[in-house]
Amino acid sequence: PPITNHLPTADLQALDAAHHMHPFTTNDELGDKGARIITRAKGIYLTDSEGNEILDAMAGLWCVNLGYGREEMGNVAARQMNELPYYNTFFQTTHVPAIALAKELADLAPGDLNHVFFAGSGSEANDTNLRMVRTYWAQKGKPEKSHIISRKNAYHGSSVGSASLGGMTYMHEQGGLPIPGIHHIGQPDWYAEGGDMSPEDFGLKRAQELEAKIVELGADKVAAFIAEPVQGAGGVVVPPSTYWPEIQRICDKHDILLIADEVICGFGRTGNWFGSQTMGIKPHIMTIAKGLSSGYAPIGGSIVCDEVAEVINACEFNHGYTYSGHPVCAAVALENLRIMQEENIVAHVQNVAAPALKEALDKLGEHPLVGGVNVSGLMASLPLTPHKESRAKFADSGTAGYICREHCFANNLVMRHVGDRMIISPPLIITPEEIKIFAERATKALDATY
Ligand code: PLP
Repeated sequence: PPITNHLPTADLQALDAAHHMHPFTTNDELGDKGARIITRAKGIYLTDSEGNEILDAMAGLWCVNLGYGREEMGNVAARQMNELPYYNTFFQTTHVPAIALAKELADLAPGDLNHVFFAGSGSEANDTNLRMVRTYWAQKGKPEKSHIISRKNAYHGSSVGSASLGGMTYMHEQGGLPIPGIHHIGQPDWYAEGGDMSPEDFGLKRAQELEAKIVELGADKVAAFIAEPVQGAGGVVVPPSTYWPEIQRICDKHDILLIADEVICGFGRTGNWFGSQTMGIKPHIMTIAKGLSSGYAPIGGSIVCDEVAEVINACEFNHGYTYSGHPVCAAVALENLRIMQEENIVAHVQNVAAPALKEALDKLGEHPLVGGVNVSGLMASLPLTPHKESRAKFADSGTAGYICREHCFANNLVMRHVGDRMIISPPLIITPEEIKIFAERATKALDATY
């Protein structure tokens, strides 16, 4: 029989296990239960093949910012597919969706970030950045200025280049990463690593690791520093207030390009259009993806400042993807940005949703299993702990988080776990009433885990 939603769940799960290789998943995890099959979605709710209505407090993978089921997005995609489904942007050709999206992004991005190099995903965009910053310095007669500094526990993607930029050691262990010339300094994770230091002192200390690494390598050898304004997949690490100003000072002083990976933070997640604005930094390049199209179409890119773009455009940058600026994806992204502006989504996050979420999280933070609250706008984590006062870690890291995630599912709630941190990153359209429902379900899951 054809494979449709009408097949029994168990049959679909068996086919899935037989033929579909899942990212970041073991067969054991799929186990006897099989994968949960999502059949449709509307607003902030998913429906699974058993008919459960599940509140998606992860916006898919931090991306469905507009929420599900926006028909305008589908209509635009269909229209564009009929008019011009594909053409490339290589070799002196272009098309209106790519032009319009690049212009729109240049208008939205702060400062002189006026140029866009498109990619199909965040990983591809960070691969672009890696090659772009090295090419930039080589074009300026400094080919040895090629080392890139990143951070432990950062996530910048899964491709060889972007996973090398990332600081996840369990990813480096597979496939012989990182590639040469990439260095990782400590993350500004006061909750996990700050010990008895004040957050401010700890933030400064971690920022100064950048200067120490630059001095060790020699500033004339360092091309760029890359970081997420707020680390997402690392567990929502909101840096202390002292961190970013010091990083900015160090990058300026040593003539190091600053790359802000805005794949999660961009497009309203932290209460401003970009996380760089929330953190008060001035990057030379911003990586974008996810919220650019609210996940409705695969598209990413690099927004590049005048100075870097001028140098790169003056040479032939031998880089690009078949789907760079794909017209359907670009049209969908444009529609996403149009709706965001029409509905004042960023102001909604800042003035309505983020304060409501903060209030709910502060209450959840009182739960005996929760050691603290990390939050910026609508991205947050609740670290689970066996001992609230000391922020102690569980001996078997990740087990409590996994169990809590299962209890979330049982209560029709999606929260992801990163180790023992429960992650919250809902669609940006979420209302205070929906946040109340989230908090009720999260409380039940925490109680069941405790
Ligand atoms: N950068 C950051 C900060 C991310 O969170 C992600 C994905 O989660 C990526 C890059 C990679 O993006 P993609 O999965 O679209 O390749």
